[in-house]
Amino acid sequence: MKDIILKKFGEVYGTTEGARAFFAPGRVNLIGEHTDYNGGHVFPCALTIGTYAVARKRNDRKLRFFSMNFEHLGIIESSLDELKPMKEAGWTNYPKGVMWAFGERGMHLDCGLDILLNGNIPNGSGLSSSASVEVVTGFILKSLYGFDVSNQDLALIGQFSENNFNGVNCGIMDQFAIAMGKKDNAIFLDTATLEYEYAPVKLQGAKIVISCSNKKRGLGSSKYNERRSECEMALSEIQSGMGIETLGDLTEEQFESVKMAIKDEDRRKRAKHAVYENQRTIKAVEALKANDIALFGKLMNESHVSLRDDYEVTGEELDTLVEAAWKIDGVIGSRMTGAGFGGCTVSIVKDEAVDRFIDQVGKTYKETIGYAADFYVVEIGSGPCEL
Ligand code: ADP
Ligand code: MG
Repeated sequence: MKDIILKKFGEVYGTTEGARAFFAPGRVNLIGEHTDYNGGHVFPCALTIGTYAVARKRNDRKLRFFSMNFEHLGIIESSLDELKPMKEAGWTNYPKGVMWAFGERGMHLDCGLDILLNGNIPNGSGLSSSASVEVVTGFILKSLYGFDVSNQDLALIGQFSENNFNGVNCGIMDQFAIAMGKKDNAIFLDTATLEYEYAPVKLQGAKIVISCSNKKRGLGSSKYNERRSECEMALSEIQSGMGIETLGDLTEEQFESVKMAIKDEDRRKRAKHAVYENQRTIKAVEALKANDIALFGKLMNESHVSLRDDYEVTGEELDTLVEAAWKIDGVIGSRMTGAGFGGCTVSIVKDEAVDRFIDQVGKTYKETIGYAADFYVVEIGSGPCEL
């Protein structure tokens, strides 16, 4: 890939002199969904697919961007004096947001740069291509300008820019999983404290298969914000006298004893998901450490049921993929991953069942939904790097 992107950079910008190549992964969350803004745990891992980039410093204040994924847009020009979100800037708002966020931390670029991107991760599907672009941009800035930032800082800067420059109210999970990724490990992260632990993912003859519904999230962001405020309100109804800061502080038993203080039934279901999903995530990591993959898979399945029935963020497409997967012999666990309403599912599938899985889930999906799903057999990769 390095040769391909360097060659393309030369074609697009006329020279590769001084150009350096970089990579940041995408991520998939194995379990712990919609817990990251509820002070709970998540368990994502970085992937070996992600965003490749080439960059080179310039002698002036110009910024030039080119993405092989948006080739028809050609070179998009801007300047360091224009670091504010602009609708017409399209995808370049992601790297520009990171440059702006570096500036907000006192790290100002003294000259512009030319950047080329090439992602091999599906866009807008819940594998966090946006966070991948943010982290690769941060890594480029650190490497080319010599800024002293840790990978954890890159995660925080990426989230800050996505929240404040791109107006997406995401939690810390995506950028953290990408910036802190470690080959063959998932990251058990407490989103309330940012304490984390790596857990080796030893699947003993099974693979991680991602099924992409090809349904765009559409209404997703408004529903996402609605779920966030439902959880905040539920928390405020049960918080008094409990000494808790977040729903992630509650055990299932504590929740059951106070839940009737949440007046609205839908809101009670949302809070139930946040509490139970957090506890499920803790149990799932224990199961993995004990090499109990069957229990890990069962908890993944329960996670999906909770997201479908209590949190109500799945939809027909994701339910069709997951319910078809559950019927296949050799599927250890399957659930929606990411924010929901479209995007992807993640399944743990025994090696010998992978082809059957892709064939049968693919057929059922096409018959039920009317268009095809895409499948990715993925490996767990590391965080950002220079190639
Ligand atoms: P997700 O992060 O789940 O993939 P988002 O909607 O948050 O979905 O982010 C997708 C957006 O990120 C794209 O529409 C585009 O603006 C930007 N993006 C992601 N990958 C690339 C890329 N390789 N080149 C240019 N822009 C990209
Ligand atoms: Mg995103």
